[in-house]
Amino acid sequence: MSSFPHHTRYHHSCDLHPLLYITFSSFSFSVREIYAFLSCIYLQATIPGFLARGMLLEEAEGLLRTSVELALEARDEFWKSTLRKSKPVYNRALVAASIGSYGAYLADGSEYSGLYGEDITTEKLKDFHRRRLQVLASAGPDLIAFEAIPNKMEAQALVELLEEENIQVPSWICFSSEDDKNLCSGESFAECLQFLNASDKVAIVGVNCTPPQFIEGIIRELKKQTKKAIAVYPNSGEVWDGRAKRWLPAECFGHKSFDALAKRWQEAGASFVGGCCRTTPSTIRAVSKVLKGRTAYSATQI
Ligand SMILES: [Zn+2]
Repeated sequence: MSSFPHHTRYHHSCDLHPLLYITFSSFSFSVREIYAFLSCIYLQATIPGFLARGMLLEEAEGLLRTSVELALEARDEFWKSTLRKSKPVYNRALVAASIGSYGAYLADGSEYSGLYGEDITTEKLKDFHRRRLQVLASAGPDLIAFEAIPNKMEAQALVELLEEENIQVPSWICFSSEDDKNLCSGESFAECLQFLNASDKVAIVGVNCTPPQFIEGIIRELKKQTKKAIAVYPNSGEVWDGRAKRWLPAECFGHKSFDALAKRWQEAGASFVGGCCRTTPSTIRAVSKVLKGRTAYSATQI
C-alpha cells in the first residue's frame, strides 16, 4: 500500500486542535490531577509554509509568536474565571507549542511513512526545525510538543537541536505508529528511546495520531524502554473511505469506547492522555470525566 492512503486516513487538516487532558506531569509543575492542555498552534504551521503563501519572514515569525501568546491569554482568562468560582473543577491548563514533523510540512503522507528520501539528513532536519523552535520557545509556552514524528533520524535531529539551542522549555517527542513496537518508518521504539533517554531536554515520550487499538501495547513497550513520562493521544481510529468520501466508524473498539480505553491507557502507565485527528471536544470531555478523580501518578512512579 502506498503511503498516501495513510495520509488520507488520518490527515492533519482536521479542523480541531488536538486537545489533551493531562493527568499528571512528572517535571516542575506542581499541580495534581487533571490539566486541560491546549496545543496552541497547528502542527503543520511552518515558516517555509507561511513564506510559500507570500508572507514576509517577520510576519511568519510573528504569527507563530502570536499563536502562543493567544493561547496563554486564553488560558489565563479561563483560569481567572475558574478561580472566581468557590471550588475550581479544573487545574491550571498548560500551553504547549506544537511542532509537527517534516513530513507534516511536506503533506505528502510521509508523516505516516517516515520516508523522507535519500537527500534528507539529520543536519537538514535540524535546519528545517531550528527557527520555528527558537521562535516558539521564546514566546513562553509551558511545553514544546513535537508531534507525529515518524522516523528515528528526525527524533535524533530534534534531540540534538534541543541541546544545540539550549532550549529550557520542557519538551515531549511523540511518534506516529501503525503497530505496537515500531515507528511508522519500521524503526523500533527501543532504538529511538536509547538516545531520547539520554536527553534531559525531553521530559515526555509517547505517540499521537496512531490508531487506538495499538496504544495499550505501545505504552507497555515504552514502559520497558524508558523511565520518562508517557503521553498518548491517538486519532479516533476512523477510516477514510475515499470512494464514498466519508469517514467510516472505527472498527477497533469492540465494546469499548474511546474514554473506556483511555482509562486502560492510564492504568497501563500513560500520564498524559488525549486525542488527535477526528477526536472532538466531546471525546476529550468524556476522557476527562473517566480520568478525573482517579489517583494521580506520583513523580517517583512515573
Ligand atoms: Zn492527528
